[in-house]
Amino acid sequence: MSEKTLTVLGSTGSIGRNTLDVIQRFPGRFRIHALAAHNNVEMLADQIDVHHPAVAVVFDPEAASRLREILPGNGATAVLTGMEGLVEAVSAPEVDQVISGMVGSVGLRPTYAAIECGKQVAIANKETLVLAGQLMIEAAAESGARLLPMDSEHNAIFQCLNGNGSRGLERIVLTASGGPFRDLPFERFGEITREQALAHPNWKMGPKISIDSATMMNKGLEVIEARWLFGLQADRIQVLIHRQSIVHSMVEFVDGSVIAQLGLPDMRTPIAHCLAYPDRLPLDLPRLNLAEVGKLEFEEVPPDKFSCLFLALEVLELGGGAPAALNGANEEIVAVFLDDGLLFSAIPTVLGQVVKKLKEILKQPEPPAGLRDVGSVKEALDADRWGRDAALAIINHAAYPHRSANIA
Ligand code: MG
Repeated sequence: MSEKTLTVLGSTGSIGRNTLDVIQRFPGRFRIHALAAHNNVEMLADQIDVHHPAVAVVFDPEAASRLREILPGNGATAVLTGMEGLVEAVSAPEVDQVISGMVGSVGLRPTYAAIECGKQVAIANKETLVLAGQLMIEAAAESGARLLPMDSEHNAIFQCLNGNGSRGLERIVLTASGGPFRDLPFERFGEITREQALAHPNWKMGPKISIDSATMMNKGLEVIEARWLFGLQADRIQVLIHRQSIVHSMVEFVDGSVIAQLGLPDMRTPIAHCLAYPDRLPLDLPRLNLAEVGKLEFEEVPPDKFSCLFLALEVLELGGGAPAALNGANEEIVAVFLDDGLLFSAIPTVLGQVVKKLKEILKQPEPPAGLRDVGSVKEALDADRWGRDAALAIINHAAYPHRSANIA
């Protein structure tokens, strides 16, 4: 088995750390060309010590200078910075696979660069396909880049399709845990605290995605990703709440056959699948024992409790840069919520107002750049920016009930 050379974007985040955990279990199987982090240089320095990459990228230039001071002065690892550094780290000819594990829209350009270079690209960065799905898929078709979905649901579907593309495919069923509030009555959503929203019952994830899971916006973004990854219209993508998070997703074929992928909720399984693709790694992790799990339950998503999911379906229908705008708006709203500046129940309310405004503006003969069509990464980011500004304008003008006001 030949050694595979990797660039890991977002190496200090949840996806990156799990990726390096898998890699460390298989010495000689992978070589790290580059590790890239936003600004956590202490953790990055430890990772460099273990994996000896040729290149380290720290997005933040000040943090990059700090890393240069920490590293031993032998120059074994070159330290790059900024977007240029990221693009250089993914484009190097020796790189076979890029792990796109950064959080946020900053991941778009380097992921696009990796696709344009025809690399294998393991996609964990949601924004890539949410903001610019069509652009990315078309670029991959042109360059021959292989996109490998690393998110558990999309990886499950990818495994179920088993390389047969959409032949005979009727629909896909994305499963969702339903987050921490699946059993809480909607009337009590206003009481939800930040800590409660951050405590996901099944998966350990970063704060932004934990909130997105609690509102089910995460599943909405995943529907948008699935639409592009598997070339299906939204009406052929179903979402079911499955509280055990054992069935990671399913596909249904025209003859009525349903194939599901199951496993314990551990990110390292889909990560290992992408890293070794098309091979499999003998991963020594706790195994699924269905007798122990006992039962697997599935429920429809209650629309009143999880309207964020349905807003995502609406913007997917609008097309163009509408999903990018929704994503940008959601990021800002979640940031305000995490800052204790907004009630949990206001998240879908503000988002709903953004979508309303978006629909109005799309009726204009010339809507702002990127909103109707996304022809470049820049236009995708423009649409994202529009969503952010719209959300902040609504929050700042409407005097939404703030948590502090609520406590008083
Ligand atoms: Mg997921």
